[in-house]
Amino acid sequence: MADYLFYTYFEEGREYFVYKDLTFERSHKKEKDFPFLESLLRFTYLDIWPMENLFKKMDKALLNFYRERDADSRGIVMSTLEELAKKHIYFEFLRFDWQARFRNAEQHPDDVQEILPHKQLRHIPSDLDTLQKQIMRLFQDVLDIDDGKKRPVHEKLQAYLDKEKREPLYAYQFRPISTIYERTGNGTFAEVLHPTSISDLVEFSLRECVKREQRMRICSYCGKYFAIPRRNTAEFCNLTVDENGHTCREVGAVKRWAEKKNSDELFKEYRREYKKRFNWIKAGKISPGAFYAWSAAAKGKRDECAAGKMSFDEFKEWLSEF
Ligand SMILES: [Zn+2]
Repeated sequence: MADYLFYTYFEEGREYFVYKDLTFERSHKKEKDFPFLESLLRFTYLDIWPMENLFKKMDKALLNFYRERDADSRGIVMSTLEELAKKHIYFEFLRFDWQARFRNAEQHPDDVQEILPHKQLRHIPSDLDTLQKQIMRLFQDVLDIDDGKKRPVHEKLQAYLDKEKREPLYAYQFRPISTIYERTGNGTFAEVLHPTSISDLVEFSLRECVKREQRMRICSYCGKYFAIPRRNTAEFCNLTVDENGHTCREVGAVKRWAEKKNSDELFKEYRREYKKRFNWIKAGKISPGAFYAWSAAAKGKRDECAAGKMSFDEFKEWLSEF
């Protein structure tokens, strides 16, 4: 029996994680909640390779533990898992799971290698790498609302799953998980998952976002996928935070405003020059042919500038030369 509590559920646009160590009477029940899909998105973009050494360290400590059954080796594994738990809520589950495994191993000294499978930890970085790519392809092929395809989600999902036949490991394969319909901390009822592995947690979120036909979009600022609510036209995510603590939504809004201000000035400048030269025709300073040739060229330059291929100062310089 597990000597801890760890469960998760979705409610009213948020996801909840509740956990508690049951071996200490005084341990508190902890609850964390995030906007829907945030934990899966953070997991999908988790930079796992810089953490590879942590997994190697645990692998080595476990092999040593098989031989020595020593507190030091166990300590190395558990303190490393604590470090990982700070990086992502799914690793918080991993920490509880392995803590329970060590306790279980004490009761069953003959089965230590089965209860504490070192390869399971050792393979996490490469397993996660594969999983991250599969999830990303699911967002791209099935849920991306900017993909220009008008096909229904279930058709796109079938096409995504079928690709697996031609390209092994391309698509995420849905698998069974066991959930319970029960009362949550908020007093209402929801489908609740008591995970037995990290893949259970991934499956639970992924299944939910496909069921909801969750619309996904690439953030125009950081280039990562984020979930957008219905009837929302958000262009920037609220997930990535820069070194000053500002989200893409905050930084992006300012950037858009500055761009718009620039483009307003650009069009004003173009119109002013256009009118000036148009009046030259009446004054006989320029032929209509020369004017239209100029206006076509100026319009081209104006659009180049609006597209960011040329600076506003360069555009003004060009205008002054002709
Ligand atoms: Zn972003």
